[in-house]
Amino acid sequence: MLKDLLDFVFPPRCVICGKETDGASVCLQCKSKIKFIEYPLILHRKNTYFYAITRYEGISEKLVKKLKFSNRKRIAEDLGKIFADFVKENDIRADFVGFVPMSKKELRSRGFNQSYLIARATSKRLNIPLFSGISKVKETKKQVGLSRAGRIKNVKNAFKFSQSIPGSLIVVDDVFTTGSTAKEVARASKGFVKGNFYFIAFSQKIG
Ligand SMILES: [Zn+2]
Repeated sequence: MLKDLLDFVFPPRCVICGKETDGASVCLQCKSKIKFIEYPLILHRKNTYFYAITRYEGISEKLVKKLKFSNRKRIAEDLGKIFADFVKENDIRADFVGFVPMSKKELRSRGFNQSYLIARATSKRLNIPLFSGISKVKETKKQVGLSRAGRIKNVKNAFKFSQSIPGSLIVVDDVFTTGSTAKEVARASKGFVKGNFYFIAFSQKIG
């Protein structure tokens, strides 16, 4: 009731172009301009798979940036739908959806974890449980601006699993650049994830 009333007084608008929507954060026209990657599998080694769904440009880039500033919940819901569709289309079977954790200090300073918001929305859409058994045990610098070698060193041994998973796990994130974060989370998962480990990023940033 309250939501209907609020939607009537303040109709939901597209965060990209400002046009009224049916409740989604992005209108259909803007959504149709998202550049999906034709071959989204970036890496496959044994039971480890890294994917990126879109290119980090245009609408995707704007969505990732907006997710950090405004309309967080609605954007995360839409991303959750895109992730869930991707998982189904690529026939990925997993038992849990996890996220890239932040350290307590990072979480305090930012106030939210965008990877967690995407994971929560994705887990709801797929109807598989959210996994919160990964923690960040090392303070790191921002990856942006670091060299490839610097990024690898920065996140080295940053993540730890505290729970084992009898099946397969999907870890979601917003941006995939050099893959150093994905690799570290995958490394930390060894011995804790029995099935496959999937790292799926919303967008891939080249260079
Ligand atoms: Zn729009």
